[in-house]
Amino acid sequence: MVADEAAFTPTGFRQKSSREFAISWSDGVESVYPVRALRLACACAHCIDEWSGEGRLDPASVPDDVHPLKIESVGRYAIQIEWSDGHGTGIYPFRRLRALADAVADDPTKPP
Ligand SMILES: [Zn+2]
Repeated sequence: MVADEAAFTPTGFRQKSSREFAISWSDGVESVYPVRALRLACACAHCIDEWSGEGRLDPASVPDDVHPLKIESVGRYAIQIEWSDGHGTGIYPFRRLRALADAVADDPTKPP
């Protein structure tokens, strides 16, 4: 579906507050992520075992106030985030970010 592609292209990033990070998408949606959850969702080889797919990152090692220091685009499909805890190898594909946002926004108390 070509129409869906717009949902997977970010138009802007900003740190909304000390604990929230926001991504604006080309379909007009703004996704807000708990910053630390985004750090914990890192799927790089340091954080996820490449062979077993199991998490290797100890959440206790990630500070509560972790935040992005630098965000770089990777091709046309992803961003790479350098974090304040010194971790900088995580690549976040747009589709994964969007899926994460939808998961975070999936609040059953809200009307559809
Ligand atoms: Zn990582």
